[in-house]
Amino acid sequence: MKAEIIAIGSELVSGQCLDTNSQWLSRELGSLGIPVHFHTTLGDDIDEDVAAFQIAIAHADLILVSGGLGPTQDDLTREALARVAGVPLVENAEALAAIAAMFARRSRPMAERNRVQALFPLGAEMIPNRVGTAPGIWMKVGNAVVACLPGVPSELRVMYDEQVRPRLNQFALGGRVILHHKINLFGRGESDVEAAALDLTARGRVPEVGITAHDATISFRISAEGTTEDEARRAMEPTLDLIRTRFVELIVGEGTDDVAEALLAQLVRTGATVATAESCTGGLVAQMITAQPGVSAYFPGGVVSYSNQAKQELLGVPASLVATHGAVSAEVAEAMATGVRDRFHATLGLSVTGVAGPTGGTPEKPVGLVFLGLATPDGKVQTRKLEIGPEQPREIIQRRSAKHALNWARLALLPMPSREIP
Ligand code: ATP
Repeated sequence: MKAEIIAIGSELVSGQCLDTNSQWLSRELGSLGIPVHFHTTLGDDIDEDVAAFQIAIAHADLILVSGGLGPTQDDLTREALARVAGVPLVENAEALAAIAAMFARRSRPMAERNRVQALFPLGAEMIPNRVGTAPGIWMKVGNAVVACLPGVPSELRVMYDEQVRPRLNQFALGGRVILHHKINLFGRGESDVEAAALDLTARGRVPEVGITAHDATISFRISAEGTTEDEARRAMEPTLDLIRTRFVELIVGEGTDDVAEALLAQLVRTGATVATAESCTGGLVAQMITAQPGVSAYFPGGVVSYSNQAKQELLGVPASLVATHGAVSAEVAEAMATGVRDRFHATLGLSVTGVAGPTGGTPEKPVGLVFLGLATPDGKVQTRKLEIGPEQPREIIQRRSAKHALNWARLALLPMPSREIP
């Protein structure tokens, strides 16, 4: 089984837009066990598109196409596919109704031009588009299966997740179903996690377990096979249980869930609230918290206290404390956490102060040095020092600091005293 990705769009080959769809689709196919052997990126030119399709059909079994499904004259994917298949384009009534309904929902008149999006090569199947106007196309051409998806990445991803992957699950390996699951951990490095999981990640183990790291979150990716989905799920369960019991409090979630989701789950479970005081993260901790729907009952608010004056006026951090220890210090993190907890009458006060760089570091306080503070209802306040590394870019230092802060609040709310409080 060989797959090819074809990305169509003049903006891709001219360098105005990076072809991220091919990368994303390749990863997705890889996770299904379908190897991608070719990437082709080309502009909006009918003859070149036809030539690319012909080559792909000759050497790949599965071809995913991104882009060129819009209503404008440079959207040529439909036509190129019809030419290669040697069939006419015909209007699909179901597709036309879906496009008209999409315009109606947005209270916008449908332009005549949009009718072309309901044209399909004869014999092709429509792939519904829940979030945009361009329906996708599913078609067998020669021995290859071709799936055409819209170029807009958010539309492509929804269509792939909801429509294409389920079809590939059936089609991919001769009726074998492969299921994938992700368990996400935070608070340890990838090598530490791997050292504790060598039995799981051993080559040839069934089900297969891989480790990946993204944004300091470490994920176990478990893949299991079966003749039915149920069988694959049953084959996976013991491995999931093993990971869940071995890594307990390091686990922040499964699937796409990360530290913010995990903190919200603990806030909901305990009824606790958290208020934030941020310096070097500039509101990122609050942003990550408020990105979670349903958080309003648990997050009264936060303060971005960037200047020393703001720390003093908004949080009551004594000027003398900053003068003696510096704004980036455990003492100031402690005062920020206490100050914000009091002012917002929250269960927890969470603070971050650090040197995000790239300038402003000193030998004593290098770039990447960050202090977190956590004030708790028992009147105590703890601090934690992070050394993220002077070589790290500002954005990474900010994101890691924010995630460590959220994770610390999560650990403080766990039902059992944690074995692993960092
Ligand atoms: P629509 O009708 O929704 O526009 P389309 O299939 O015609 O769908 P295109 O016109 O090809 O989509 O692309 C729309 C936009 O999507 C492009 O301007 C670009 O910003 C983005 N895009 C297209 N292809 C890619 C790609 N391969 N990777 C990343 N972004 C892409």
